[in-house]
Amino acid sequence: MSARFVWRKVVDLARIHTEKPELIRAQVRSLSRQVPVLYVLLLANASALAYTHYGTAPDWLTVYAVVLLGVCCIWRAYSWTRAGFEINDIDACVWHLRRIRLMAAVFALLFMAWAVAMFRYGDIYQQGHVAYFISITVIGCIFCLVTFPPAALLLVVFVLVPFVVYFGFLDNEVYIAIAVNMALVSLIIVHIITSYYAAFSGLVTSQMDLERQHKTTLELSEQNESLAFLDALTGLANRRAFFAYLDDAVTTAAAQAETQSQQSDSFAVAMIDLDGFKPVNDVYGHPVGDELLIQAGKRLRAILAGDALLARLGGDEFGIILSDYEDATHLITLGRKVCQALNQPYALSSGSVQLSASLGFATYPTVARTSNALFERADFALYHAKKNMPGEAVLFAAHHETMIRHDSQIEQALRNADLSQELSLHYQPVFDVETGDVKSIEALARWDSVLMGPVSPATFFPVAEKTGQVGMLTEILFGRLLREMREWPEHVSVSFNLSARDIVLPNMTKWLIEQIKANGISPERLTFEVTETAFLRDFAAARTSIRYLRSHGARVAMDDFGIGYSSLRYVHELEFDCLKVDRSFVTPLAVTERSRRIVKTIIDMCTNLEIDCVIEGIETQSQRDIVIELGGRLVQGYLFAKPAKRPVLKRLSAILKKQ
Ligand code: C2E
Ligand code: CA
Ligand code: CA
Repeated sequence: MSARFVWRKVVDLARIHTEKPELIRAQVRSLSRQVPVLYVLLLANASALAYTHYGTAPDWLTVYAVVLLGVCCIWRAYSWTRAGFEINDIDACVWHLRRIRLMAAVFALLFMAWAVAMFRYGDIYQQGHVAYFISITVIGCIFCLVTFPPAALLLVVFVLVPFVVYFGFLDNEVYIAIAVNMALVSLIIVHIITSYYAAFSGLVTSQMDLERQHKTTLELSEQNESLAFLDALTGLANRRAFFAYLDDAVTTAAAQAETQSQQSDSFAVAMIDLDGFKPVNDVYGHPVGDELLIQAGKRLRAILAGDALLARLGGDEFGIILSDYEDATHLITLGRKVCQALNQPYALSSGSVQLSASLGFATYPTVARTSNALFERADFALYHAKKNMPGEAVLFAAHHETMIRHDSQIEQALRNADLSQELSLHYQPVFDVETGDVKSIEALARWDSVLMGPVSPATFFPVAEKTGQVGMLTEILFGRLLREMREWPEHVSVSFNLSARDIVLPNMTKWLIEQIKANGISPERLTFEVTETAFLRDFAAARTSIRYLRSHGARVAMDDFGIGYSSLRYVHELEFDCLKVDRSFVTPLAVTERSRRIVKTIIDMCTNLEIDCVIEGIETQSQRDIVIELGGRLVQGYLFAKPAKRPVLKRLSAILKKQ
């Protein structure tokens, strides 16, 4: 260890480290407890020395000087008991430390001078007491100041060093021995101060680090907390926040209701769905879909700034909770504004896209009084809007309640039904107008419920889809079809409708093929009709299933073509064998030129793709004539045959030929 190093260390020890405010505070905190003790010790020891010298030494030393020093000690001790209160004021803390450093020097000199003055009086015992007083007092004081080396070291320099020098030069062996001992003790004391102080400042630093870490952890967890309630894409609230807010709104409104006798609607829940978002995502990819959702979020924010809570509930579904409206009419007006804003074209990186947003409202407490019921009814109103008035806002009303009840009755009846008895199939042929032959027969489900009477498949299939019973229906109906087909001539081919759920389940398509083979029927005789709801649900799974069915020789038709999105991508990528043009295009054929052109375009497209095209729902002679004129060949409709219990093939063929 070089002398320079030791010197640097000493200088460092003697410094007040203003650059470490936490260390300064810790020093003041510990000194505010130790320094008053130090002064008490000083006073007690000085009093004891004055007592043994009273009468031997003059009074100005044993009485007046001690009283004066005592007053100084009490004043300083008192000022230190107050230092603890100023711990947050770093300047005050530094000031206190500077003061104690100065005072250490002043008091050391004063007490040393006083003790040395006393040494000149008294006998050998009294002199011994002086030596004892100095050594024991200074060691006590140094330990009181150990957390503040600048002051502790001053005591070493101002007391111990002069003590060793003074007693070392006295012509007395005992004093010389004391001086040597003291020199040794001084060295040990310096060593203890150094190592204790290093441990003390290290402790303060690690405590500071811990606190900083704790603070950072707290800040991070606060940040996480707020992120946990935000939708990362749009910056709106997320599903979790939406439901927390909804629960809160219900609780608050219920508490208010208790204090008010009459209650009007206090808030409304809205559910929004972007019809057509999925095809955008499928066709242009997810980044473009994300752009659209961000823009939709901004439009919502622009219209509903203020009190409303805006949330993205997932996918293309948004939720709103709003209380800032006057009545139901105002609410519907607001809803329309929201839909209109969302229906405007979106400028995206891949070009402009337009879609239609529908909205469903439920109000508290008129429509429902619990979070779940509010959410479900707003969702039902949305479902109703999507189905019957896309692009519009619908407020849940009494007749929706009837519909929900009807749906749940159907659900119950389906659960309790002996479906193998109550379900049956009716058949409606598809004709080839050129040859006059029946091209194929479509199997259509019929349910004659013991509880509810005949229920339309258009009603019970959507319910069965929702409740997950549809797979069971398909199995019963397909089994029935295959049994009946075994009786029919080999050349009769049949269409069977699959629900969206069936087509996205790989097990179901496998089961269908197995059943066909097990019944010894050629798969070429079967066409499976699927609607685009299946592709909207899971495009990849639908494509796999369609490929699987076709790879085993079965045919696949796209049903209800023309309504919904009817994306050309589906026609392009899904390799159908047939398109069935929806009845909604046939009804206005005789009235509008436009629908004629559309049907012609679809027929031509099918011809070019070399796939079949069936025109559904022909009810009148003029519709039939127009379809033939437009190049249509395969037709289906009440005009030719209504769905019937058994396909009376020969009779139907004869009817067609007569027309
Ligand atoms: P879809 O597959 O489009 O079937 C055609 C519907 O139009 C049938 O109604 C049929 O009776 C009716 N229809 C046929 N020609 C005419 C016409 O000239 N005018 C009018 N107004 N209607 C006509 P249905 O049998 O009530 O079936 C309704 C829907 O229920 C079907 O529409 C299909 O989506 C579904 N469905 C029927 N059977 C099944 C089935 O076994 N499985 C599945 N998943 N869905 C089925
Ligand atoms: Ca069909
Ligand atoms: Ca159809």
